Amino acid sequence: LEVIRGVEPRVADAIGQELADQREMLKLIASENYASPATLLTMGNWFSDKYAEGTIGRRFYAGCRNVDTVEALAAEHARELFGAQHAYAQPHSGIDANLVAFWAVLAQRVEAPALERAGARQVNDLTEQDWETLRRDLGNQRMLGMSLDAGGHLTHGFRPNISGKMFNQRSYGTDPETGLLDYEALRATARDFRPMIIVAGYSAYPRLVNFRIMREIADEVGATLMVDMAHFAGLVAGKVLTGDFDPVPHAQIVTTTTHKSLRGPRGGMVLCDSSLADQVDRGCPMVLGGPLPHVMAAKAVALAEARQDSFRDYAQRVVDNARALAEGLMRRGATLVTGGTDNHLNLIDVASSYGLTGRQAEAALLASGIVTNRNAIPADPNGAWYTSGIRIGTPALTTRGLGTGEMDEIAGLIDTVLSATQPGTTKKGIPSKAQHVLEEKTADEVSQRATDL
Ligand code: PLP
Repeated sequence: LEVIRGVEPRVADAIGQELADQREMLKLIASENYASPATLLTMGNWFSDKYAEGTIGRRFYAGCRNVDTVEALAAEHARELFGAQHAYAQPHSGIDANLVAFWAVLAQRVEAPALERAGARQVNDLTEQDWETLRRDLGNQRMLGMSLDAGGHLTHGFRPNISGKMFNQRSYGTDPETGLLDYEALRATARDFRPMIIVAGYSAYPRLVNFRIMREIADEVGATLMVDMAHFAGLVAGKVLTGDFDPVPHAQIVTTTTHKSLRGPRGGMVLCDSSLADQVDRGCPMVLGGPLPHVMAAKAVALAEARQDSFRDYAQRVVDNARALAEGLMRRGATLVTGGTDNHLNLIDVASSYGLTGRQAEAALLASGIVTNRNAIPADPNGAWYTSGIRIGTPALTTRGLGTGEMDEIAGLIDTVLSATQPGTTKKGIPSKAQHVLEEKTADEVSQRATDL
């Protein structure tokens, strides 16, 4: 920090404050974790200065032998850990990994047949007319993904997102009664819509997804199954999700982030069948900018950590802790979407439990040293900005060593804060979806306990 302080002290101060915040507050954001010192240190080194567009052994720049080494190690660890035929470690983030996957499927299913029909090797060899036809065909493809309010991600076809504009999209949701995925409704939608890609995976669904059934549906309608396991990759790596619940044997292409439950550096990754490997490997430079070799090196380190037996133990404790948190909250009267959890996250319906919007609850919890994020619940009356839900996950606190006893106590702290919070009003006395009133004494007491934990 002293080296940084000598150049820009305000950055050094912000880093120091971030460390203090992450130590003193209870980090319950389901997509966050604490990467190991080895992973963090691997990200801060001379690899950051190197350009390496292309893939392992086929770069557009000279001098890439060390980048080749770390990228190959990251891919090898990923293949072995997840049992994948092919792994691509370059995506800079989860969204980038999804864009690479979309591109790869379009390249395989639309571009390659068009080139073959025209007897061309690459798009530059096409006539203007064939090129126009190809562009039209690329823009006409259909995607079916989980809706945002049911727990899907923006990139799963949400209309304002690029994925919803690239593709002619439709969404599937959850059963309004149970909050659970309704595979038969999904199958009916798929039969009617006949998508080219079905995207499975989620950011805020507290249950398991049966990928065997998803693949069955995809096969039935001739779709490629893509699974975005960004949130639960750590549970797959830790062998808590196996069989029908492990996406890798079932999907043709699987994307992930490396920084959530997988506990690596910020970044993304793509795993796929060997039939898609060439297209995926052309992710850079077709979709991605130059790779981040320092981050790929850190991915290799984190994946090596995830291959250790201790990671399996960690993954199991993440799930045990999420369940303990769910039970603790429900025992105190909170309503959870789907009535519990099978994975690393819970979604509290704070509107029906505490009469708050997600935004009010998030702010009240933060003021009490508990860091969460607001999240839409299915058919959310408060929309995607204010929301009616709070999403809480256990990957980070499990890394800190907390167990089920502490989770019950945290459930009590959350309930105490939210019970002591009232919706606020605007200056004109109108009920506000953003403002809240929280007893200062409660906030101080909970904050102190959060730091102690
Ligand atoms: N996919 C899912 C399911 C996610 O939950 C997220 C992040 O929240 C992403 C993709 C995007 O990841 P990133 O922020 O690294 O682009």
